[in-house]
Amino acid sequence: MTHKVTLIPGDGIGPEVSLAAKRCIEATGVKIEWEEVVAGEAALKDYGEVLPKKVIDSVKKNKVALKGPIITPIGKGFRSVNVAIRHALDLYACLRPAKSYPGVKSQYKDIDLVIVRENSEDLYAGIEFENGQPQTKDLIAQIEKLSAKSIRPDSAISIKPISQFASERIARFAFEYALKENRKKVTAVHKANIMKFTDGLFLESCRKVAQDYVGKVEFTDAIVDNMCMQLVQKPNDYDILVLPNLYGDIISDLCAGLIGGLGIASGANIGKDMAVFEAVHGSAPKYAGKNKVNPTAMILSGVLMLRYLKEDKAAQALETAVKEILAEGKSVTYDLKPRRDDPSSVGTQEMADAIIKKIKK
Ligand code: NAD
Repeated sequence: MTHKVTLIPGDGIGPEVSLAAKRCIEATGVKIEWEEVVAGEAALKDYGEVLPKKVIDSVKKNKVALKGPIITPIGKGFRSVNVAIRHALDLYACLRPAKSYPGVKSQYKDIDLVIVRENSEDLYAGIEFENGQPQTKDLIAQIEKLSAKSIRPDSAISIKPISQFASERIARFAFEYALKENRKKVTAVHKANIMKFTDGLFLESCRKVAQDYVGKVEFTDAIVDNMCMQLVQKPNDYDILVLPNLYGDIISDLCAGLIGGLGIASGANIGKDMAVFEAVHGSAPKYAGKNKVNPTAMILSGVLMLRYLKEDKAAQALETAVKEILAEGKSVTYDLKPRRDDPSSVGTQEMADAIIKKIKK
């Protein structure tokens, strides 16, 4: 069977790591008809917008996409294209496995965590009011009236919506994933002691859903600051973490650090009947076009994609090939060498070549 998959190369290092992942996926022998569409800075030049309708239409049609990272300017310019894609397609669950691979240097061993991040709301919903704007002044006046608390007039405001619907939906996703993957424990991460209504609702929703899995999957919860310390001190005590959007974003990078860095952290954004696969890392602009960065995170995102397409044999063959190359430590990029200036490090495409050679069909 030939699968139709949308390919969004992204910008910065996106096109290089996407190409490496595409080549590795094709080398498994799985038949894929790629539909390449452009988003981000490249689309701005050609279409006058960063997220042309063509991109969303293509994913809606094909139901599966492989996506490279896309730049989001800090504090100015366009809003995140990455977040816009997740919203437009209601890809409500962000799944990010953090797994140790022998050969990758790290302070930790045998990490096997899965981050399940809520993708549709929270401070990431993009509802923001700029300092000094008339709407911001109105909002401040309204909040002061309703809450009897004062806000400095020169404030900017971001809104944090957390709903019962989205919280129960992500909690159920985490528990169902636990059952499917034979995992033992789901931990809800929150700050419900301070944000009693928003994070409180998230926690309450997780507790409610957990009732349906009593005796099958254990449920615990942890306050996000304490979770950071726990993950640094005893990460092996945890299994699946379910989190609201912003904490999920931050803890994902922490977990990438536990397994040896962003170069190997893979991910997927999953909705009801479609999914977009992308690495945890961003577009690392300073390395763009240098054939230098590690393609593993994108290739492992491709492994997740192959599993989603029910191509388990190909997924296994590709993951095993990646594991072997990482364990050998020879044909790997600079970030996986004991020293970053190691002259024996190879380029992005050369690492992909080495992985391709290892794939057993
Ligand atoms: P980043 O992940 O792009 O890079 C941070 C650092 O991590 C890099 O300088 C590099 O040292 C290392 N790194 C990242 N990917 C690597 C790889 N494949 N191999 C080796 N080392 C790697 O984070 P940033 O600098 O904070 O963000 C750059 C841009 O990417 C921003 O515009 C940001 O908004 C965007 N971003 C996009 C996504 C996405 O597309 N989903 C995710 C995160 C950040």
